[in-house]
Amino acid sequence: MSLALAARRAPAAPYRFDPDAESLSRDAIAALQLVRLQATLATAYGRVAPFRAKCNAVGARPEDLIRLEDLVRFPFTTKADLREAYPFGLFAVPREQVLRLHASSGTTGRPTVVGYTAGDLDRWAGLMARCFATAGARPGDVIHNAYGYGLFTGGLGAHDGAQRLGATVVPASGGGTERQIVLLRDFGASVLCATPSYALNIAEVAEAQGVDLRGGPLRLGMFGAEPWSGAMRAELQARLGIVARDVYGLSEIMGPGVAVECEAADGLHGWEDHFLFEVIDPATGQVLPPGAQGELVVTTLTKEALPMIRYRTRDITRLETAPCACGRNHVRIMRIAGRDDDMMIIRGVNVYPTQIEAALVGVPQASPHYLLVLERAGAMDRLTVELEPDPALPPADYARLAGAVTHQVKSLVGVTVAVVVRDPGSLPRSAGKAVRVRDLRPRL
Ligand SMILES: [Zn+2]
Repeated sequence: MSLALAARRAPAAPYRFDPDAESLSRDAIAALQLVRLQATLATAYGRVAPFRAKCNAVGARPEDLIRLEDLVRFPFTTKADLREAYPFGLFAVPREQVLRLHASSGTTGRPTVVGYTAGDLDRWAGLMARCFATAGARPGDVIHNAYGYGLFTGGLGAHDGAQRLGATVVPASGGGTERQIVLLRDFGASVLCATPSYALNIAEVAEAQGVDLRGGPLRLGMFGAEPWSGAMRAELQARLGIVARDVYGLSEIMGPGVAVECEAADGLHGWEDHFLFEVIDPATGQVLPPGAQGELVVTTLTKEALPMIRYRTRDITRLETAPCACGRNHVRIMRIAGRDDDMMIIRGVNVYPTQIEAALVGVPQASPHYLLVLERAGAMDRLTVELEPDPALPPADYARLAGAVTHQVKSLVGVTVAVVVRDPGSLPRSAGKAVRVRDLRPRL
């Protein structure tokens, strides 16, 4: 047999960062989760007074958890619990064992503070490295990290994971977009990490500078920290010449690295050896059967400093437990439809900003820069879509473009919106998490 034939018959195993953890069967995952959940509940009950009080109020004790299904007897944790315990009230270890703090920017009220032991930081780096590899990054890649560094978990979380993978990390952080493009080109970045809105900003500035990033070493985008549509994925892939993958996480649970898309790009694998995922009806708190859409609830299974029991993420999604084409059995979190807080109700129809985005991106001569303005008109909510045209479009054609967008949104989303076409370059550009909705409705 020739060497070439042998190579065809025995394809190289796909690269896995954590081959043992990533090849667990569903039964093995469940068995591991039960042991780790029992330990987490015992620790949190023993060491976190506010959690113990909430358990006692509903008569739930750690030893009551015999099966994974018994978790429904335990109370939820919310962002309000973190705020009330500000800054360290939910920590399960003495402050001296906490090696790093992160915090939300919190536009209203107290920020939420999260902490990590040495073990937590080690597992976080490992999980983020697993995410990079699952998305298609490899040791030796040049990873340009345009997530913001600082109290936000995105920058340092991706940074530590990139180093753990064995890549060369460029800690660019957010902002200074012209300089980012010089670094991307001159350092030969093969992977770009950013929010999707900032990646779009980078693509636009590169085009304006006459720098074509397509056809070079850049091949993969790891985008997250805000909901984005499939249409935006297509736009980013075309403009940057990359494969774009979705990565999910939230500070309260760990930061980036909780879930990621694999090469099948059919949902994000949530790493069930470290987290337990549920979907609930956000109105009643009832756990929904697999496949039903509702609010994602996450319990940590290996966090030491800040164990989180049944944390309500406000993210709306559904879970898929069928085997994935990639061979991994870890649950898939189907792409986040949006945050419960972001949902708009337009004439009785529930609408997420990502649905409007998906409709906009499909209209020729509309740019993907948009802002949704919500107002109250009598008893109704009224939505105005402000968008920028393709810069080449003459102003005489703006009215026709507005009509085309109204039609597209009506046919794809089912609601009637007003459309205002702004001058090219006039809407604010993202340097991190984009502000897509301006809510002018009176506060109740
Ligand atoms: Zn997969």
